Amino acid sequence: MAFDALPIPKGNRVAILTNAGGPGIIIADACESAGLEVVELAPETQAALRKVLAAEASVRNPVDMIASATPETYRIALGLVLDDDRVDAAIAAFVPPLGVRQQDVAESIVTASSEHREKPILAVLMGREGLPQGRAELNEAGLPAYIFPESAARALAAMHRYRCWLARPEGEFATFDVDRAQVRHIIEKARAAGEEHLAIQDAVALLSAYGVPTAGVRHATTADEAATAAVELGLPAVLKILSQDVVHKSDVGGVAVDLRSDDEVREAFARITDSVRAQLPDARIDGVLVQPYVKGGRETIVGVTTDPSFGPVLMFGLGGIYVEALRDVTFRVHPVSDVDAQEMVREIRGHSMLQGIRGEPPSDIGVIVETIQRISQLVGENPEILELDINPFVVFEEGAMAVDARVRIDLEDHGRTP
Ligand code: ADP
Ligand code: MG
Repeated sequence: MAFDALPIPKGNRVAILTNAGGPGIIIADACESAGLEVVELAPETQAALRKVLAAEASVRNPVDMIASATPETYRIALGLVLDDDRVDAAIAAFVPPLGVRQQDVAESIVTASSEHREKPILAVLMGREGLPQGRAELNEAGLPAYIFPESAARALAAMHRYRCWLARPEGEFATFDVDRAQVRHIIEKARAAGEEHLAIQDAVALLSAYGVPTAGVRHATTADEAATAAVELGLPAVLKILSQDVVHKSDVGGVAVDLRSDDEVREAFARITDSVRAQLPDARIDGVLVQPYVKGGRETIVGVTTDPSFGPVLMFGLGGIYVEALRDVTFRVHPVSDVDAQEMVREIRGHSMLQGIRGEPPSDIGVIVETIQRISQLVGENPEILELDINPFVVFEEGAMAVDARVRIDLEDHGRTP
């Protein structure tokens, strides 16, 4: 109703008018918690109100005109607060006392509104018989009327948010210099083989081709090969089971971290392959993946899902156990601008953890923002990517590293293959 009928307020400063203290306070609280400011009225406005209101009335915001307020009082007082430069919008509340017809107050609000078309007035009418009397008059004039104070505050706050959203810069859509041919090759190869999920090495190579920092990986099929690869990559190392039948590797004991010697690597090779075989006897195991062990840093998640209506949707949040336990993630419809990406990082609850808290170093927010934009470009240029998960994307004080990646592609051809 509010969006349909009213001008969008120029700011969040609201004046509240009421003929009873209780609703005034409820509205003030609702406004404050919705991000609106119950502003102090200009001294001239307060003086002018003092002249027209009863001696017992309060001329400070919320303006309590007390039960003797007449329809005419509403019209005059609304005019005074709306003329105040400090006020962007007004909420007029009315509780029916004896002797004043709510319908007449409604008419006065309509008149005040027609005299102040540039600022919105929202009415809160508390009805005697369930429905507020006077609503019809307001609605006919195109003015919203609410039964509950909180509804009016919420509606006004939504209008204010909309104004802020309109005013915010749209940002730039970056185009990075990437190796698209490499990604086309990886995707075509997987499609030809009928592989919906990319092998992890391919997922890592795909990220790397779009400039996402990734941990080096090696493939090993025996314990000795794994030990040699680990030493070459540099100890300590991590081993991960390599199997197209395993989605969550650590759930089946398929990940061993912080391996400090070639012997530990050999032993871990046997341990994780045995564990996976015990838990998933039919899984095809293609050996292991060897990675350097990444120390420190903050685990985040950067991902993509495909929404049936909106198409690709970018996701960012705290990764690892946080994403499962707290679901502290945020989403944006593709394509994502630099401003969107910055907002995504800012709006998760764990943002303060990324800023560095209690003496912990801050995380490199710049590399996160850039990576989100690179992933946005990746899915824009390669529409077969239906899902993508970098979890964890480990972020350091400087730089970051994708240590695990999952990519699901569309095997059907919708005639859109570039
Ligand atoms: P999955 O998600 O399939 O269980 P991951 O590769 O994400 O497998 O590994 C599980 C967890 O092990 C990660 O969330 C991370 O905490 C840790 N981990 C994985 N790879 C590394 C690495 N290279 N360095 C440090 N920790 C790692
Ligand atoms: Mg993972």
